[in-house]
Amino acid sequence: MAETDDRPAFIADAMLGRLARALRMLGLDTFYRSDIDDNELKLTALREGRAILTRDHEVAETSLPVTVLLIESDDVEEQLLQTARAFHIAPGGKLFSRCLICNVEVEDVLPSEIRDEVPEYVLATQRRFSRCPSCGRIYWAATHVEHAREWLERVLGPGCAPGEDGQGEER
Ligand SMILES: [Zn+2]
Repeated sequence: MAETDDRPAFIADAMLGRLARALRMLGLDTFYRSDIDDNELKLTALREGRAILTRDHEVAETSLPVTVLLIESDDVEEQLLQTARAFHIAPGGKLFSRCLICNVEVEDVLPSEIRDEVPEYVLATQRRFSRCPSCGRIYWAATHVEHAREWLERVLGPGCAPGEDGQGEER
């Protein structure tokens, strides 16, 4: 499956926090700030070559040379589906390769490196860990990652990353 390089980068408007999180779950570079204003949104998109995802007609009608997708639904599943279709996002790639909070790619860490930072039972039952270099959150595979995977597969169809690769569970 294609890696992040040739996948689109996004910027989501303030109303699309759940969509931004879902795109980050898929490992897609998605800028999101709940306090961003329309101007900043458009200028950041232009400067960083990001496609704008917005619920706002006025933003969608910008004259700036940026890619814009006007999101039609308030429902996050429909939003994700619309985005995936518009940008031909295949449900592949590595899930949870990006911090859901910072949008930064997480780094693999050895269990011995985070020994003091996660509960003992997690250390005993999990093998693969990763850490956000920005906020320091530690991710590991866990039940709610499985739920997220199932959700993504249900919305986008099967083909999300195989179980072994899945990482998640913020601390
Ligand atoms: Zn982070």
